[in-house]
Amino acid sequence: MHDQKAFQEICSRIQRSRMRLLVEHGFYGLLLMHVKLQLDPSIKTAATDGDSIFFSPVFLSGLSDTELDFIMLHEIMHIVLDHLTRAREFKDRETANTAADIIVNSYIYEEYGNKASAVSINGKESLHRLPDGSEGNKHSFEEVYQLLKKQKKSGTALSSKKSIMAANAHVKRR
Ligand SMILES: [Zn+2]
Repeated sequence: MHDQKAFQEICSRIQRSRMRLLVEHGFYGLLLMHVKLQLDPSIKTAATDGDSIFFSPVFLSGLSDTELDFIMLHEIMHIVLDHLTRAREFKDRETANTAADIIVNSYIYEEYGNKASAVSINGKESLHRLPDGSEGNKHSFEEVYQLLKKQKKSGTALSSKKSIMAANAHVKRR
């Protein structure tokens, strides 16, 4: 990166986010102590391969602290719920990614006492419910995938509520 100071600022923001999460959401904060946190200019937002969490420096720079905490929790939950391995069972990777995101966001929404701001980026609430209005974490990954597939076939799209989170693949292929 051309600007060493900007690079250090981004790194220290990631560290501070992890410390906040350790204090406020101990279980996830502790898990975050055991993954590598890396900057990756080649990705659009953030992603995980199961061992590391990768952040686009540009994306990260545009996030508030609350939004950064959301992204950190989002990625660690993909790891906790083993979404990478489980997603391989599904043919439609895009739908599998959306299903995984809905479940993860639903857990975060609940973790923050059902506060929409906890799962929002730029004031836009990320998907955490199924089309029937039920929370994603009330269903298995397989159920959410099947429901989304069914909906895709019938042509009633989620697209109007599609958020930045759902619109980007968050599970990095190994
Ligand atoms: Zn995701």
